[in-house]
Amino acid sequence: MPPSRYRENEESKAVWVYLEQEEGTLENVSLEVLSKGRELADVMKWKLVGLLPGSGVHALAKEAITRGADEIWVMDHPLLTTFTIEGHGAVVYDAVMLGKPSIFLLGATHNGRDLAGRLAVRFRTGLNADCTNLHMDEKDALLVSEVSGFGGGVVAMIEMQNHRPQMATVRPGVFALSEPDSARRGKVIDVPVNLKPEQIKTRILERVRSGVVDLTRVPVLVVGGRGVNGDFETLKKLAEILGGDVGATRPPVDAGFIERERQIGQTGVVSSPKMALCCGLSGAFHLLVGIDKADVVVSINSDPEAPIFEFSDYYIVGDVSQYLPVLIQTLESQQEISHA
Ligand SMILES: Cc1cc2nc3c(=O)[nH]c(=O)nc-3n(C[C@H](O)[C@H](O)[C@H](O)COP(=O)(O)OP(=O)(O)OC[C@H]3O[C@@H](n4cnc5c(N)ncnc54)[C@H](O)[C@@H]3O)c2cc1C
Repeated sequence: MPPSRYRENEESKAVWVYLEQEEGTLENVSLEVLSKGRELADVMKWKLVGLLPGSGVHALAKEAITRGADEIWVMDHPLLTTFTIEGHGAVVYDAVMLGKPSIFLLGATHNGRDLAGRLAVRFRTGLNADCTNLHMDEKDALLVSEVSGFGGGVVAMIEMQNHRPQMATVRPGVFALSEPDSARRGKVIDVPVNLKPEQIKTRILERVRSGVVDLTRVPVLVVGGRGVNGDFETLKKLAEILGGDVGATRPPVDAGFIERERQIGQTGVVSSPKMALCCGLSGAFHLLVGIDKADVVVSINSDPEAPIFEFSDYYIVGDVSQYLPVLIQTLESQQEISHA
């Protein structure tokens, strides 16, 4: 690989985080990555900087400071109102080449992934995508990115020895969100933006919102696997009673029983519910990645040897088609008693 765009010894000892916003609201994942960035920066006694491109986004800079940033570089310009790879890519590239941070982190949203891949090529550096954890090798001042590989069989610890910035993306829900501290003070720096309309080749014709809720932070997640035989209506009913929502493993999603946005796991959503109720799923590694952060895991499976049981706090060996209606009935009658 050719040398990076940074020249030797040019990197500044700082952790930078790309702050993605949509219509004036910061993406949760950006704040999660910022929270982790604070931990990494504290270990090294480095600065934590947020990069905030957009239009009319100054108020968000203050919010990011309450979540741990020391400095926010705001790039405010009408051509940055909506994400385009040409606009956001150009200003983020210029800012990083100006500040030369040692570490640059992004949330693995659609836009974050697009940006990270293209920028890594332009910086001539590597990119650790979809990391499951990040920490610092303090001795060598290197970022250690944990990435699951070989179909989930191993967790690789990757260090970038020679190329800069050390880039990584992290999916929503992987890191905890720190509590905001309204007393925190930080610097807001306005970075001049020289964008011209002809640079933006992307034309936004229509914006369509997905109707699916955010499963990363539901209190109760009812996950259905192949064993529910496509009966997600029963699961939805149960989730509603429990004040939660429904997710699924890959087979029922592939079979078209439920929307792809509800797939939980390595190639789906990473959720941090108080309780994950796993129904008729085996407990493959790829699925476990998505519920690893649940406080409590309860499972129902007809196979007494099902691997999910080893991962569960409580389990029932049984047929979901028999247990779930009884569970729903019991919970409903309890609700009736408590409302009486
Ligand atoms: C690169 C890669 C990425 C992947 N990413 C994901 C991902 O993000 N999410 C994901 O889910 N999968 C993912 N997979 C697929 C994953 O490896 C598993 O194949 C999948 O999770 C299995 O789903 P399952 O547990 O529903 O099905 P199965 O493994 O077939 O398990 C079905 C379970 O249901 C039980 N069962 C059957 N009938 C009943 C019944 N009536 N009552 C109770 N229990 C019953 C069975 O005992 C069995 O344990 C990925 C695979 C690869 C290679």
